[in-house]
Amino acid sequence: MHASRTRAEWQAMAEGLTLRTRAFIDGRPVDAADGARFDCISPIDGRVLGQVAACGAVDVDRAVRAARRSFEAGTWSRARPAWRKKILLALATLIERHADELALLETLDMGKPIDEARSVDVAATKRCLAWTAEAVDKVYGEVAPTGPAELGLVTREPLGVVGAIVPWNFPLLMAAWKLAPALATGNSVVLKPSEKSPLSALRLAELAAEAGLPDGVLNVVPGTGADAGEPLALHIDVDGLVFTGSTAVGKRLLRCAGASNMKRVYLECGGKSPNIVFADAPDLDAAAQAAATAIFYNQGQVCTAGSRLLVERGIHRDFVARVVAAGRAMQPGHPLEPGVPMGALVDEHHTARVLAYIANGLGEGARLALGGERVAPVAGGCYVQPTVFDDVRPEHVIAREEIFGPVLAVIPFDDEAQALHVANDSPYGLAAGVWTSSLSRAHRMARGLRAGSVWVNQWDGGDMTAPFGGYRQSGNGRDKSLHAFDKYTELKATWIHLGD
Ligand code: NAD
Repeated sequence: MHASRTRAEWQAMAEGLTLRTRAFIDGRPVDAADGARFDCISPIDGRVLGQVAACGAVDVDRAVRAARRSFEAGTWSRARPAWRKKILLALATLIERHADELALLETLDMGKPIDEARSVDVAATKRCLAWTAEAVDKVYGEVAPTGPAELGLVTREPLGVVGAIVPWNFPLLMAAWKLAPALATGNSVVLKPSEKSPLSALRLAELAAEAGLPDGVLNVVPGTGADAGEPLALHIDVDGLVFTGSTAVGKRLLRCAGASNMKRVYLECGGKSPNIVFADAPDLDAAAQAAATAIFYNQGQVCTAGSRLLVERGIHRDFVARVVAAGRAMQPGHPLEPGVPMGALVDEHHTARVLAYIANGLGEGARLALGGERVAPVAGGCYVQPTVFDDVRPEHVIAREEIFGPVLAVIPFDDEAQALHVANDSPYGLAAGVWTSSLSRAHRMARGLRAGSVWVNQWDGGDMTAPFGGYRQSGNGRDKSLHAFDKYTELKATWIHLGD
């Protein structure tokens, strides 16, 4: 365990930080070709942290060329997996060594509580890299069960150049979920972080170089989706595109692949995950606390946020009262204050969007049971109260669309069949939770729920050993676990004639 710092100590550390603000291409920091920069604004207080290189098509092309050169050179792509493991483990060690700095970058850049940045984002980033590195020299190919006259070898080969486009809600961790399996399997990568949170990715690239990753194997091109993301998605020399972000942009990337070179596209997109509480839940207080954390953690900016709470009618009022009490205790505060339960939303634009959904919920007649207001624990920052809407109907906009903020929609139900129907009545299918003491009901619900992760009597379980991803418009492909390697490798069948 690290010793927690005080807010004053974190602030002093922030004052002394050297931000990496240039793109990282071919092993070195570079400016955008046209010299363009954009303001990196902290949602904690609206302060400009620095000006970051605003990459465009020319820079993306430069990064893709560097990635291609490094891939063809083979230093990384054809290296022994044990050597790639060694470098990636060295990177994991460097992440641990710089954990406070990386956590601080996340908090300054996108407003999450510093304790969470340190104990969740950075810790999980390190674990992801280390677990994946440890795995890669233990994965074998196959020998096909052919007849005696031939030998059929099934081997995995890296795709080549992978473009990775990631969001701002867990900037470092979402990058690691892509980078670890992509690099471990020998690909070269061009990473485009979100323009709302580019700082940790730029530092990570530098640490990767320090760990011994050859030049050009990892390139980072900060910039907007339109200026840097789209040229990457359309690039003719990118073999695979992996993405975490909204469903709307995911759909666009599929079109980009079709319009260019049919690059493989793997998407981790949005969600509107149902959390279903039956009257026979084993511990209603624990369920209520989990329901509040499921929606208010990271200010609700979580793809798996439990944004729809389905409650059996017999316990509905009582249970909502418990969730409201748990939510009331999670008021936002200064993100650098140790122990603060909620921090800032990522920026003004997103805050306005969340507040518009709250106005919509009021307009549609849902009952506001908690919150609903913008607050200012720090002047100039982006803070919204934990908000609970009760008596929401499944057709309400706040029950259908991903708000990506601290806004919970509570929907009462009468029986298991209705709960399942409402839960599955969504274009998304990322995650779902079920709270019940009945083993058979838990299994029936788990089977019936159309979601990539189902949690029984808990919320948000998971580690590197299990795959993570979505059904339906929550995406395709899986991050984490050995299944992640499928996205970054081609399967080759080699047939050798042995004689008749
Ligand atoms: P977003 O889709 O707006 O942006 C994601 C990334 O795509 C950013 O880097 C952005 O610059 C880029 N982008 C935007 N437009 C683009 C374009 N036209 N071409 C190429 N790239 C483009 O999403 P966001 O607001 O950054 O993140 C929130 C979303 O991410 C939510 O929908 C959330 O559910 C989702 N998310 C999903 C998972 C998951 O694992 N399923 C995890 C975290 C977040």
